[in-house]
Amino acid sequence: MHNLSMAYGGDVATLKKETAPDELELVRAFVNTADLEDDEEELDSPAAFKAWLLEVGLLGRGADVVEPDLRRAIDVREALRALLVANAGGALDPRAPVTLDQAARRAGLALRFAPGGTSRLEPAAAGVDGAIGQILARVAEAMSDGSWARLKACRRETCAWAFYDHTKNHSGVWCEMAVCGNRAKAEAYRRRQAEA
Ligand SMILES: [Zn+2]
Repeated sequence: MHNLSMAYGGDVATLKKETAPDELELVRAFVNTADLEDDEEELDSPAAFKAWLLEVGLLGRGADVVEPDLRRAIDVREALRALLVANAGGALDPRAPVTLDQAARRAGLALRFAPGGTSRLEPAAAGVDGAIGQILARVAEAMSDGSWARLKACRRETCAWAFYDHTKNHSGVWCEMAVCGNRAKAEAYRRRQAEA
């Protein structure tokens, strides 16, 4: 049901419905490299991960991507998903901030000032650690501008797809009400019937 090409321009309606503004969209795309619902892993090898990093412009062509890089990246991705579960009202897995803190350290994220007087977080590390650092820098920026709270993981545990909540009162909890919202309601109904 989900794939990155859909998020990156296949279906315009879906694009508007769930995509995040500006640079936060990259974070959403990263989390959605795993589709739990369909058990599809886009980052299933260091080569596949490298291809993804090249596609989104986070890595230079000459950089190496090895198995431990991939393992760390997937740990970071799932820690980010855990934060998005919390954004949707779920409990925060206490391991997630620890994982992200370690990744930020490895990336050597530091506050840099540009000649124009603006500032941003930039990784000192190169390669995959630096690429992960750039993703985390976008997370930090979204946390400070308030857009982070709207990036959520679908409340259906078997889905957990990352989506941007465009509802006026920030009350969205399903990636798509027509799909997961109704499925969750049907599951709850069946549970009540079974208990009765
Ligand atoms: Zn969903």
